[in-house]
Amino acid sequence: MSLTVVGSIAFDSVRTPFGERERMLGGSAVHFALAASFFSDVGVVGPVGDDFGDEHLELLRARGIDVGDLERVAGGETFFWRGHYEYDMNLAHTDDTQLNVFGEFEPKLSDRSREADVLFLANIQPDLQRRVRAQCAGAKLAALDSMNLWIDTERQALTHAIHEVDCLIINDAEIRQLTDQPNLARAAKAVMELGPRIVVAKQGEYGAALFTPTSFFAIPGFPLEDVRDPTGAGDSFAGGFLGYLDGEAAASGGDLVLDDATLRRAMAAGTALASFNVEDFGTERVARLERDEIDARLAALRSMTQFE
Ligand code: AMP
Repeated sequence: MSLTVVGSIAFDSVRTPFGERERMLGGSAVHFALAASFFSDVGVVGPVGDDFGDEHLELLRARGIDVGDLERVAGGETFFWRGHYEYDMNLAHTDDTQLNVFGEFEPKLSDRSREADVLFLANIQPDLQRRVRAQCAGAKLAALDSMNLWIDTERQALTHAIHEVDCLIINDAEIRQLTDQPNLARAAKAVMELGPRIVVAKQGEYGAALFTPTSFFAIPGFPLEDVRDPTGAGDSFAGGFLGYLDGEAAASGGDLVLDDATLRRAMAAGTALASFNVEDFGTERVARLERDEIDARLAALRSMTQFE
């Protein structure tokens, strides 16, 4: 089994009440791939500029991530995002977005990326997500994330992209905006009418909710006392969630299992990875994360959400 992700590969300048960083490695595909790499074989698709250093590639390679489909655009600049958070760190304020090399990017996937069983269309222009989806027609599970910028500016393309996937993983405010539906349960139903049969609404520090046509599940965010930078939490959640599903399939002979019990364990894996991501700036915490720390956090999550 293997997993392909396309999404932003970025430099992020971020300010939170607890500090700031300039031009650190980030991007939806990067946060996703780092998280998923604890459970499955991941390959990243996307462009970077001349300013993308070998140390950034090395950080990804060190986690076993396939960077063969990272295209370096000569003379180009890497995607750049600047944002800040106030004390309510559930809300990111975007100060600047520069698509740079993404503006002209035409994805040409290697056979390895095309043949992935699980595909994640991380947050990026919806038309680019669709072009990658078309090249991975055989994926057994395709999932997609997006954000308010694309709902505001490219709603039609985004609706087409959502129609072409099995699973939507998106912030709860964005699912309401996308469907013009203030009630989350109704919003999830409206998404299912567009195509996806699995809908995950991410709710920041409050956790995440899972909707399928026949079931509902909710899990709290892991209760942390120190959150330094929430950037990438949503992508880390998606990486833990889809990475877990892909990894389980690999462990059981190749069949992707999407029953309620497996999806719930995947929600816990996503929650655990997101909780590590926010403990430090950018990729700093997940880059030094160990598998036994994940297992300990999963055990803690299990015990705190169980009742008789
Ligand atoms: P999140 O997991 O939602 O916190 O996503 C944070 C990441 O999204 C950052 O590392 C940014 O580089 C990236 N990002 C911000 N705006 C966009 C955008 N318009 N398209 C793609 N990626 C973005």
